[in-house]
Amino acid sequence: MENFETIDSVCTYCGVGCDIAVHVKENKIQKIFAHKDGVVSQGKLCIKGKYGFDFVDSKERLRTPRIKKSFLDKNPAIKDAVASSLKDFDDIWYESDLDSATTAAAMKLKEIQEKYGQKSVASIGGARTSCESVYLFQKFTRHTLNSPHVDNCARVCHSPSLRGMKATIGEGAATNPYNDVYNCEFMIVIGSNTTEAHPIIANRIVEMAQKNDNLAVFDVREIKLHRFAKYKAIMPHEANLLVLNMIAYVIINEELYDENFIEERTKGFAEFKDKILNDPYANPKYFENIEGYEYLSKMIPKIAREYALKKSMIFWGLGITEHIDGSYAVMAITHLSLMTGNIGKAGTGLMPLRGQNNVQGACDMGMLPYYDPDYQTPKEVGLMTPQLVDEMLEGRIKAVLNIGEDLTHIHPNINKVDRAISNLELIMVQELFMTDITSKADIVIGVKSAYEKTGVYVNAMRRLHLSQPLVESDLPDDWEVIKLLDNKMGGNYAYKNSNEIWDEVREVAYRRFSGASYVRLQRHRKRGLQWPVHTEDTPILHQLDFRTDDGLGEFHYHQYKLRGMVEEIIDKNLTGYYLTTGRTIAMYNNAAQTKQTQSLLDKYDEDLLLVNDEDADDFKSERVILKTEYGETKPLKVKFTKKIEPKTLFVTFHYADSKVNALFGDRSDELILTAAFKSVKVEVINC
Ligand code: SF4
Repeated sequence: MENFETIDSVCTYCGVGCDIAVHVKENKIQKIFAHKDGVVSQGKLCIKGKYGFDFVDSKERLRTPRIKKSFLDKNPAIKDAVASSLKDFDDIWYESDLDSATTAAAMKLKEIQEKYGQKSVASIGGARTSCESVYLFQKFTRHTLNSPHVDNCARVCHSPSLRGMKATIGEGAATNPYNDVYNCEFMIVIGSNTTEAHPIIANRIVEMAQKNDNLAVFDVREIKLHRFAKYKAIMPHEANLLVLNMIAYVIINEELYDENFIEERTKGFAEFKDKILNDPYANPKYFENIEGYEYLSKMIPKIAREYALKKSMIFWGLGITEHIDGSYAVMAITHLSLMTGNIGKAGTGLMPLRGQNNVQGACDMGMLPYYDPDYQTPKEVGLMTPQLVDEMLEGRIKAVLNIGEDLTHIHPNINKVDRAISNLELIMVQELFMTDITSKADIVIGVKSAYEKTGVYVNAMRRLHLSQPLVESDLPDDWEVIKLLDNKMGGNYAYKNSNEIWDEVREVAYRRFSGASYVRLQRHRKRGLQWPVHTEDTPILHQLDFRTDDGLGEFHYHQYKLRGMVEEIIDKNLTGYYLTTGRTIAMYNNAAQTKQTQSLLDKYDEDLLLVNDEDADDFKSERVILKTEYGETKPLKVKFTKKIEPKTLFVTFHYADSKVNALFGDRSDELILTAAFKSVKVEVINC
C-alpha cells in the first residue's frame, strides 16, 4: 500500500483500550493494526479492533439530524420554528439540521421543565464518547438544566465494582497495570469470559498460565480460559459470594493471612474473622451437599492456599457484578486481597475488567447520580436508571437526553422500559447509527465516532489516552451538540475545542487529572499515564495507604444467602433451566458498529442459545422461545454443546431483535441496582 499516513490511536471497542496504528489514505481507514511495542496491545488486536472499522464510512451512518413527524405534529409551535429546515425523509422522519434539531430540543425541554419541574429531565449515556463530552453532558444536566439525574451504562455492568471497592479500599478502579500479570505468581479469574470479552488481557493470562501453571478459573460454564487453568472450577449459578467467602474462610481458618498488613493497613478484621468462622455457608465442606459440585470442597482450599501464600491477582467481570449480591461479592474479593496483603505492590491487586472503551472515564467524569466529577459529593443525589424508568412510568420524568446508550436494548425488563419511554414527551439521542432507542426517539443527531475526533479515554487500568482523529468528518462532536443545546437553554458555554474542556476537567477533577495535559498525554502516548496523574502518574494504587477517609482498608462481612440453583440442588428439586448471558468476541454490545463489518457479521449474525447435549429432549425444535413472567425472546437458534452444564443455558444479547433482555425483571444488585443478568430461571417453548 502506498501514500498512506500512519496515525496512532486507541481501539474504540472494549475497556482494554488497545493502542492501535492506522493506515489512512484519502480520508479513509485502510488498515488497523497493533503497535508491536504497544504497552496495552503488545502487537496483537482482537478481530473487532483489527477489522471492525467499516462503520466509520458506512452508508448507514446518521449524517443528518432527524426529527420525528409525530413529535412535530404534537408540537405545532416547534414545527413552525423549525419548518424551513425540514425535508421529508420517510413516513416517520423529517431530516433537519443541527441548529433546528437543537432548537426543537431546547423548546421542548423548556416547556417540560416549566410544566413538570426541573427534575423531570434526565441524561443517560456517555460511556462510549470522550471524557470531554461526557463531562460536559453531566455538567449541562446538573447546572444548566438543574436536574441531578445523570447515569451511564456502568449501571448495567460495573457499578457494583465501584460500590464494593469504594466501601473497602476507597477507590473503584483497577489497582495495577495489566502487565503485572507477568509479575504475579497466582491468578484467579472469576465471572469473566476473558478470551471473548477482554481478549488482549486474556493473552497475558494464558501466556503466564501456560508457563507457570498458576491459574484458577471460576465460571458457571466451561469457558476457553478453563483449558489453561490448573484449577478448573465450575460453579452453580449465583454462588460467587459463597465461593469467595469460602476462600476467606480457609485463609482465616488455616491462619494464612498477613497479620502485619492487617494490623497496619486495615480495620474490622477481628469482627470479620469471627463472623466468617461462624458462618455455616463459609466452610468449603458445604459443597459436599451440592450434587455435581462436590469436588469444589477440596479444590477451594487449594486455591485459597496458593492465593494467600503467593503474589496473587484477581480478575473479574460481569459474572460477578450482574447478580443481586454483586457489590457484596466485590467486597468479598477485596477482602481476600486485604487479608493477604495482595494489594498495593507489583504482581498483586484487583482487576475489574471494565466493559466500554470509556466507561471508567464516564464514571471519573461524574456521569453517575451519586458522584460529581472526581467522585466528589454532588449538590443533590439523582436517581439511577432503573429508578428513572419507574419515574417515567409514574409520569414524573418527561424527557431523556441520551448519548450512545441503547436504553431499550441493553437494559433489563425491556418491555417495561418500552412502556416507560412511551410516556416521555421528549427523547433526544446522539448516535452513529439508527439503533433500537433511536427508532423510538423524537430527535436523533448523528455525531462523530471515536475515530473522527479528539478526546481523552480512560481504559480499564486507569490509563489515559488522548485519541486523535484518524479521518476528517463534518459531523459534530457530542460536546458540540451539548454546547449548542446549552446556549439555547440560556447557558453560556463558549468552549472552542475539546482541549478547553479537558483543561477545565483537570481543574475540577484535579485529584486524578491535574497533571494530565494534552501536551503531556501526547508526549507519553506510548506508555500512557495512569491516574492519578500529577507530577508523576500512578501505575499501582494503594501502595502506602488506601483511598478511604482514614487510609485504612475495611472489612464488611456479608453472608451468602441461599437461593436459586444452589437451593434447588440441595432440595433435590432442580427442575427448570437457568440462563446466563454474555458476549461473543466478534460482536460488541448492541452490535451497532461491529455489524457494519461483513467479516464480523459472517462470524456471528444472530444470538445463539447454547444447550447441553443431555438436555436435547427438551429442545425438540431448531429454534426455541425462552420465557419468564416479564417477557419472552424471539425464537432463538439452538446450538448443542458439551461445554455447558446440564440445566444451564447461555445466550448472547447482541441483537435487539432477539429480545433477550425481555426475560429479566427488576431483580438487581441490592445496593446499586445493576440487573441480575447472569442468572434467570426460564421456561423453554419449542417452536
Ligand atoms: Fe479493541 Fe478490546 Fe479487542 Fe483490544 S481487546 S482490540 S480494545 S476490542
